[in-house]
Amino acid sequence: MGKKKKILWFSCGVTSAVACKLALNKYGKENCHIAYIKIDSAHQDNKRFIALCEKWYDAKVNVYQSEKYKDQFEVMIAKKFINSPFGAPCTLELKKKVRIEIEKQIDFDGQIFGFEFEKKEINRAIKFEEQYPDSKPLYPLIENKLSKPECLAILESAGIEKPDMYKLGYHNNNCIGCVKGGMGYWNKIRIDFPEIFQKMLDVEEYVGAHALKIPLKDLKPTDGRHETPIAPSCGLFCQIEFEDIISDKVEPFINGFEKTKERGAFLSLNNLQKQQQ
Ligand code: SF4
Repeated sequence: MGKKKKILWFSCGVTSAVACKLALNKYGKENCHIAYIKIDSAHQDNKRFIALCEKWYDAKVNVYQSEKYKDQFEVMIAKKFINSPFGAPCTLELKKKVRIEIEKQIDFDGQIFGFEFEKKEINRAIKFEEQYPDSKPLYPLIENKLSKPECLAILESAGIEKPDMYKLGYHNNNCIGCVKGGMGYWNKIRIDFPEIFQKMLDVEEYVGAHALKIPLKDLKPTDGRHETPIAPSCGLFCQIEFEDIISDKVEPFINGFEKTKERGAFLSLNNLQKQQQ
């Protein structure tokens, strides 16, 4: 039986890109398997970003995709369903099911995620570790106190321009036309990607449901003007329960957390906290 590997989740986002780099430095590329789940509605510029990261890593980014569906629109049409408070079928079909297959294929003893050093993200990481302990999650960015702006700076210093979706002002590099986006997000999609906006209008009509509280066809160009065009990040684990309720374990990370000295491996959040006590 070969040595167990770390699965490094690359999402074409700036934080996961840096988390992968830190893990490669720590464990060596022969002990890592970088996995990216492709969805056809992602920005075309992602190809450039992946190629540059592969060069930076000196390692291959392994690309996976759902065998059944190419993008969220195909899922919504097939399921005649868009989104619900309990999760979006596109996350389940395009990400979670693919992720489960990858986990079956790779003999792993840890998974690297790009949750950053920021209150809400630390909270998500804590809940994620509590809800999915078997996934053995490791968070190099939290351990190294790295936030998204710092990850951007690291990429820039490596000569890698950020993905085009960030340049356009989006906060995540999700599928274009994410069903979790708010009014401000969809009004920005209407301007930046009118064909995707139209596609979503058609899907809503076909399915007889809508992603926002109101049908997209009734969205006024001024709706959501106060919002930044954010679609919440869409995780590989479908749904983190109670992610909006901030755990009391977050505060010690934000305020009392000392970056500990360099170790041979990253620690689970649980063990990291024990080290701080
Ligand atoms: S990013 Fe949005 S559209 Fe894409 S799978 Fe996740 S929830 Fe669905």
